[in-house]
Amino acid sequence: MLEEFFSPRSVAVVGASRDTTKLSHGLLRNIVQFGFSGPIYPVNPRIDEVLGLKCYPSVTAIPGPVDLAVVVVPPTAVPSAIKDCGEKGVPGAVIITAGFRETGPAGAEAEHRVLEIARKYGMRLIGPNCVGVVDGHTHLNATFLAEAPLAGEISFMSQSGALGVALLGWARSEQIGFAKFVSLGNKADVTEVDLLNAWMSDRATQVVIAYLEGIADGRAFMEAASQLTLEKPLIILKSGTTDAGSRAVSSHTGTLSGSDRAYDAAFKQSGVIRARSVGDLFNFSVALAYQPPPRGVRLAIVTNAGGPGIMAADACERIGLQLASLSRSTIDYLKQYLPPTANFYNPIDVIGDAGPDRFHHAICAALKDEGVDGLLVILTPQIMTDVVETARVISAAAFGSSKPVLANFMGGDILQPGIKALTEAHIPNYRVPEEAIAAFQIMHTYHQIKERKIETPVHFDVDSASVSRLFETAQREGRRTLGDMDARGILSAYDMPVPRSILAHNVHQAVAAAEQIGYPVVMKVVSPDILHKSDVGGVRVGVPDADQVAFAFDDIIRRAHHYLPQAEISGVLVQEMISGGREVIIGLSRDATFGPMILFGLGGIYVEVLRDVSFRIAPVTPDQARAMIREIRSFPLLAGVRGEKPADVDAIVDAILRLSQLAMDFPEIGEMDINPLVVYERGKGAVAVDARMGLNWSVIADGQFDGE
Ligand code: ADP
Ligand code: MG
Repeated sequence: MLEEFFSPRSVAVVGASRDTTKLSHGLLRNIVQFGFSGPIYPVNPRIDEVLGLKCYPSVTAIPGPVDLAVVVVPPTAVPSAIKDCGEKGVPGAVIITAGFRETGPAGAEAEHRVLEIARKYGMRLIGPNCVGVVDGHTHLNATFLAEAPLAGEISFMSQSGALGVALLGWARSEQIGFAKFVSLGNKADVTEVDLLNAWMSDRATQVVIAYLEGIADGRAFMEAASQLTLEKPLIILKSGTTDAGSRAVSSHTGTLSGSDRAYDAAFKQSGVIRARSVGDLFNFSVALAYQPPPRGVRLAIVTNAGGPGIMAADACERIGLQLASLSRSTIDYLKQYLPPTANFYNPIDVIGDAGPDRFHHAICAALKDEGVDGLLVILTPQIMTDVVETARVISAAAFGSSKPVLANFMGGDILQPGIKALTEAHIPNYRVPEEAIAAFQIMHTYHQIKERKIETPVHFDVDSASVSRLFETAQREGRRTLGDMDARGILSAYDMPVPRSILAHNVHQAVAAAEQIGYPVVMKVVSPDILHKSDVGGVRVGVPDADQVAFAFDDIIRRAHHYLPQAEISGVLVQEMISGGREVIIGLSRDATFGPMILFGLGGIYVEVLRDVSFRIAPVTPDQARAMIREIRSFPLLAGVRGEKPADVDAIVDAILRLSQLAMDFPEIGEMDINPLVVYERGKGAVAVDARMGLNWSVIADGQFDGE
């Protein structure tokens, strides 16, 4: 897939110039100098020859077939250049030229025209407004980079050309090579999703990394990423974490969700490793590209200095890795070969005066130990240290082992020859122990991602027809929100347990309802104008007898009138009192990129302050639901503290899955809170005590329009 961009048989450079100060000259020179083996055709009607190559007046004038056209003409000339390529039957074009969508509406219009021409001929486009494309293995460097990247096993796509260039330069100085590089530019046609699909089966690509500013089609992205990450790691640095524009929100869920939360959730669900910095991007990718995956989290550390060893051990603990405990025989072996002042336990300290042989014994013993899943070797230069030879010892030991080995050679220029030797042997070296530990953890994370089982989504048999009817009525009445009265009907239709409730219009009815339900009861104001009932003193819990019911009825109505004189009040709800459970919130919001997003958190009034919530994109699977419950910091409160019984997590999972299905079935629900969902002890279930939703009818109107 997209072979025309990476292994074309021939390349045309449309707009190639003789002027060595011009980008269009540099680009041609790069293609020639990087050693592209097929025919290279400069196209420029004003010249006959450039860099010793015959120049053609147009693409159609080229005698042989052309697989790839690199377009560097001015923006106004791009449409005709693309049309020429189409006529010639060129399957792919990289448009370097800028001055399109990034410049405003007129540019966007021009870009659209170019795309239409390409589509007409079935031609694929990369760019416009991009730096170009590199394939390290077919020796194609169709970019204007000053220095060509090295060939390697990482494929890299960048939405920012400048950042792409900077990172490639930096990677080169670190001896990191690339299988493929694509500068995505404006993504008029080829997007990140196309590249994920193309690189999934690309044998040269071991690891995919991306710098992205946005994703156009969230669903397609998740699908492609989920597939790819079963084959190879995908690491993404996503910038632009603030939300564009602010929406009117009426739910906790709406307030707490933002586009960055959505990206986080989508990445987790599709196995994407999220890099938080450029450093992460490369630190993680070299570990994943160069070393085998660890089977577990037990790390051994060999060091010639105590301090860095302790720092590494601390970092392990912070991040959830384990310091491996070495076996008796490993320790005995170490005692035999290391001086008595050494530390024979993990971190193994070979002492500052250690030569390569001591490192050799310690490294081999650690790698052989059954209780060790991976190794970090820390070296600080001391008087006796033979940096290069130690690097060789590490490389040889790593080569003979199926366990990952990382290095942390720490200290100035004196280390450079050693680091070079490590890099050549594909032992990732990190500047500080913490970076090595973080990389090790990511390797373990990816191992789990790759081994994950793909769940089949659950589907519940529910009464969606009655929900449709309810929404039809609500739409006719022009309602934008539904309070707990209507929401309860919807939850019931999706088989979520709700408390028994009776609407009372007067004191008499309220008392009768309470007698029927049984004391104590809960009483709540019912009004289409009041969404947050406690805010207006509209909720009374634990009402114990008929007298109190009568008093509460009047009191609730009076308060509601007092706070909101215009409110239309339908009556007071008398409700079964739910006690002995823990309160959680589950909710739904809609993200512009990824669509329906489910929220989970501990309920109650602090949810917006503590922001201890987790998100997943719907449809949510059972494993994802379980993961999002465990993910919040306050999960121990549900697992049970101080002898408390654990809460019924399965019941929360069930509620999340049903809400997820509701979200998929009814796009008109823009946002929704079930708050609280009261969860009993394990095995005893959960009850949705209160719910409200915001409705968005334009979604349905759009849908109907699309269908016509
Ligand atoms: P609102 O969120 O509109 O203020 P709720 O119906 O959620 O109104 O009630 C507020 C709080 O009262 C709930 O968070 C819960 O703690 C408590 N509560 C409400 N209904 C019940 C009930 N049936 N049983 C027990 N507690 C309840
Ligand atoms: Mg509530």
